Amino acid sequence: PTTPQTKGKPRLLLMGQRRSGKSSISSVVFHKLPASETLFLESTARIQKDSLNSFMEFQVWDFPGQIDIFENPAYSFDMDAIFGEIGALIWVIDAQDDYLEAVARLNVTILHVQRSYPHINIEVFIHKVDGLSDDYKLDIQRDVTIRIQDELSDQGIENAPVNFHLTSIYNHSIFEAFSKVIQKLIPRLGQLEAMLTNLCRTCRFEKAYLFDVNTKIYIATDSTPEDMASYEICSDYVDVIIDFTEVYGSWPRTQQWRDRLEGEPWAQPLEDQVACEWAESGMVLADAQRPIMLREVDRFLALVAIMKEGSYEKMPQINMNVDVVVKGLTEFFEITKPRGGVVTGGQGE
Ligand code: GDP
Repeated sequence: PTTPQTKGKPRLLLMGQRRSGKSSISSVVFHKLPASETLFLESTARIQKDSLNSFMEFQVWDFPGQIDIFENPAYSFDMDAIFGEIGALIWVIDAQDDYLEAVARLNVTILHVQRSYPHINIEVFIHKVDGLSDDYKLDIQRDVTIRIQDELSDQGIENAPVNFHLTSIYNHSIFEAFSKVIQKLIPRLGQLEAMLTNLCRTCRFEKAYLFDVNTKIYIATDSTPEDMASYEICSDYVDVIIDFTEVYGSWPRTQQWRDRLEGEPWAQPLEDQVACEWAESGMVLADAQRPIMLREVDRFLALVAIMKEGSYEKMPQINMNVDVVVKGLTEFFEITKPRGGVVTGGQGE
């Protein structure tokens, strides 16, 4: 069951203590800031509402961690305004620091949120895990999980939607985590995944992703096991294409511009040639001999897939199949668009 989200925007709320990495995360993921430049960011000291150029128009509220909004009467926050519309609360914990205080605060928050807004997913980012050994990361995750589960069951709360992610802005893990968070807010995600799984089968793709191009968050993937390396290749490929687009122009193009780009001598004036209305690209990776392809779905989304070795010759058939799926995807998002300012988000669909 989900509550109506009055403004039609599934919203993410980012919380956590000072210096835990909130501003860095939103700058890196949503504003393409290189991770090394976050060293000079000002720490969050107020509520920041961040509207994004993305297909779901989610918002990130970078919330000041040092303010105890539940306990301190000096801050009369309108709780409904803050929590009423969000789909997921992301709580950032600095894994390189002493995190007991952060966990205690998180526990207080979960209890409040569970009581009044039980539909909100709580996503804990155990953050800054770069430079920590794999064993140590897992130890921390285990410790944090136990501290939270114990507190919740002491309070009689079972099965609260609390999830844990190990993240860092210095690698792809932060994008991977956001992808997981966003996917839970997409109604009928299973249908999307089924479309991609079918596409992989018919085209003999190794892995396919539907990317939100501006953030490199993936909205869906096929049902084969998670594979970080494939995600990294595809996400880097999106970057390459974006860079190209920035250099050579982007949409919407005027007819005149398009005629100039796609007219002779590039396009042969064949009788039956159909003008290409979308962005598409392909490339063969030198190390693995596997082709990779990208196909624009709409302004925000692109389909990116890694093909099997040698499948480049089958491109015409592949393109036909991709066409069908892209049409299907476009219809999917038409149907799931909010109507009359009310949208349903969450897994309950
Ligand atoms: P905020 O107060 O929660 O907004 O925290 P900031 O975003 O200002 O981050 C505080 C510091 O943590 C900055 O110096 C960042 O460069 C650093 N930081 C953020 N994310 C990471 C990370 O994933 N790994 C490491 N090593 N440092 C990070």
